[in-house]
Amino acid sequence: MATAWDYAPAPEARDIVKIQDRYGLFIGGKFVEPTSGERYTTIDPAREEPLAEVAQAGKADVDRAVGAARDAFSNGWSTLRPSERAKYLFRIARLLQERSREFAVLETLNGGKPIRESRDVDVPLAAAHFFYYAGWADKLEYAFPNRKPRPVGVAGQIIPWNFPLLMLAWKIAPALAAGNTVVLKPAETTPLTALLFCDVVRQAGLPPGVVNIITGDGRTGAELVSHPDVNKIAFTGSTEVGKAIQKTLAGTGKRLTLELGGKAANIIFDDAPLDQAVEGIVNGIYFNQGHVCCAGSRLLVEESIYETVIAKLKRRMATLRVGDPLDKNTDVGAINSKQQLEKISALVQSGVDEGAEIFQPPCKLPERGYWFVPTVFTNVAQSYRIAQEEIFGPVLSVLTFRTPDEAIEKANNTPYGLSAGVWTEKGSRILAMAQKLRAGVVWANTYNRFDPASPFGGYKESGFGREGGRHGLEPYVVLDDA
Ligand code: NDP
Repeated sequence: MATAWDYAPAPEARDIVKIQDRYGLFIGGKFVEPTSGERYTTIDPAREEPLAEVAQAGKADVDRAVGAARDAFSNGWSTLRPSERAKYLFRIARLLQERSREFAVLETLNGGKPIRESRDVDVPLAAAHFFYYAGWADKLEYAFPNRKPRPVGVAGQIIPWNFPLLMLAWKIAPALAAGNTVVLKPAETTPLTALLFCDVVRQAGLPPGVVNIITGDGRTGAELVSHPDVNKIAFTGSTEVGKAIQKTLAGTGKRLTLELGGKAANIIFDDAPLDQAVEGIVNGIYFNQGHVCCAGSRLLVEESIYETVIAKLKRRMATLRVGDPLDKNTDVGAINSKQQLEKISALVQSGVDEGAEIFQPPCKLPERGYWFVPTVFTNVAQSYRIAQEEIFGPVLSVLTFRTPDEAIEKANNTPYGLSAGVWTEKGSRILAMAQKLRAGVVWANTYNRFDPASPFGGYKESGFGREGGRHGLEPYVVLDDA
């Protein structure tokens, strides 16, 4: 008798990466013990198993890291020939490529994202960022014509847990290309690829202190923000913490860039290629379990095609494979932490309570670990929390519209403004919509596409400053008159 076709398990081997039992702080080119003496355990969210002990950097550790970065800045890095700086960045990029499997497996183990994504998106894009900014290092005067660019100094960089290695690359590559030194704090739940990156830094022969990595929770981040010898803070994370950082820095003269939350509209017109659009909707919200600041978490569908789109979407959602992130056939991996799972669950419950209609495909979840079934809400009013707040999980809210103006009104009806998507066959409509959407990035007939040459950043409560492209250099240079 015929049985349903299914995939055989295809797990990626995890022994490619050697995880130490415990890690110190990477300061001045070597691992040192935290003076705080505090440590915590970082886990695999798919198995709820401990992976390693990492250090909780305290005030004295932050001070030591900033001191190492200052010394490296003053003792040669900032005055090194730019073409020499470029060589280090090229070396880092090549090493990331050579060790890509190791990084991909570790990213997946520590963060819960599918190996297919860490292997095909996170790691290659991280390497691409280093290649791209290596190219700028000796061409800064062409990036800023008629100005004399010089580095800002020591940059404090704080990153979130959704794209740990990629966010590290977004932060470190432009800073180094422009001649700055850095102290970077990865997120509490995902420190391991940043700690493996320290090994790449050493392999590349980067002078000690140019890159310092300190682990810890929000307290470490707050110490870094308020350290008096830091010249610039670059932060990616929640709008709430971004606002707190902005308050702390007001009046200090320190530079600040913030890349914060989002609640993007993905807008489907009736002339869109529907099967392609459905793939874009799925990629827009279920990629990386929806832990994406630019996720297309509000779907705006033109009323005339609503039934068709929802039917196709539900059919497609039933084929998504949720489970072991190390399996090459997995589409949706584990939720990053228990805390995040609780936040998603609470917001989904609010959607049900407020009166939206929930759909979740039948799905068998692993017994251990943090999981959430891909979810879509229809019958959503704009005032519902699920239409207003960043859920940061695999949860889509669907709204409808009748005219392009209504779509713009609804899309812009949010405190955020990071990204948007437009699906239509008319080029003129794409351009008209892109002009009116208050979003830093507008994708047309695609979604979640990234390129190191393309600037990324927000409007309104999604933050300010751009990362990527020539724009991404600006926060890291002081421009004197030529
Ligand atoms: P946070 O904004 O708290 O975390 C981002 C980074 O900032 C982490 O490294 C964090 O450390 C650090 N941090 C926390 N508090 C401070 C502080 N007072 N000063 C300086 N640095 C600090 O995000 P969470 O991880 O707590 O996630 C909460 C929510 O934020 C999510 O549910 C999601 O909605 C949103 N979020 C949005 C992101 C985006 O890119 N738009 C990214 C991450 C989260 P630690 O890891 O210890 O908290």
